[in-house]
Amino acid sequence: MKTLMLDPKYFHTLGYTPTKDCLKNKTILVTGAGSGIGKTAAKTYAAHGATVILLGKTTKKLEATYDEILAENGADTAAEPAIYPMDLLGANPDDYQNLAKVIEENYGQLDGLLNNASLLGNLSPIANQNIELWYKVQQVNLNAPFMLTQACLGLLNKAPNASIIFTSSGVARVGRAYWGAYSVSKFATEGLSQILADELETNTKVRSNCINPGATRTSMRANAYPGEDPMTLKTPEELMPLYLYLMSDDSKDISGQSLDAQ
Ligand code: NDP
Repeated sequence: MKTLMLDPKYFHTLGYTPTKDCLKNKTILVTGAGSGIGKTAAKTYAAHGATVILLGKTTKKLEATYDEILAENGADTAAEPAIYPMDLLGANPDDYQNLAKVIEENYGQLDGLLNNASLLGNLSPIANQNIELWYKVQQVNLNAPFMLTQACLGLLNKAPNASIIFTSSGVARVGRAYWGAYSVSKFATEGLSQILADELETNTKVRSNCINPGATRTSMRANAYPGEDPMTLKTPEELMPLYLYLMSDDSKDISGQSLDAQ
């Protein structure tokens, strides 16, 4: 695979216009599909023709995403999504292998994996970081995507062109006071994506990239910045051109990159 350089700061100025069916016949797994950016990405992928597997902790939220996908695309025309409730905090390697087995039995391959679910933890100085919470944040934000991606590699290799997207953050590139466990997990996520991209460059059609969504109107952002007016922030919908670009074959030569969605 050829790795192209794309200026990570300027994707949104490139004016990418996805076609309506750019994800037709693709099966895409989205983690954290019950709310925020993950929910919008799952709905957007479905609207562009993909069969989406909705993974998340809260079944009710996943069911709402499922219902909205069918309502917005029409039950007859939309590829029916699937729900896979899973708590990434407690999941072990066998759980990920079981998930891969279920995907293989039902779809045969996996064309896309959006590692989106994350835990913010609490913002506090390193001196006061709660150690138990530190472990939890690393488990959900780093160890879970690692184990899930590892379990899915065989399935991704079966697709003609497969895309893995990891979710990064502005605090993954420059350390910022008080962002502790969350920031460290996102620095490591960038490393994981780059290492994987390098390993997959030879003899595979699987690519790996990171998206930094930037400040976005979701509950995680509201928890991190309780005094902020959410109406000043971009919505998840506004980020979708990059999420579509990296998942569609239009980006099949892009790997090892970390791109800003805004
Ligand atoms: P939300 O809090 O809205 O969504 C997070 C999702 O992760 C939820 O669907 C949640 O499911 C899921 N999740 C959390 N813990 C677990 C778990 N243990 N098992 C399974 N699923 C879990 O956050 P955003 O949409 O804002 O965040 C999406 C991604 O974007 C994250 O990776 C975040 O770090 C990143 N990001 C967001 C920014 C922003 O400004 N919003 C900025 C930079 C990065 P449930 O609701 O069921 O718990």
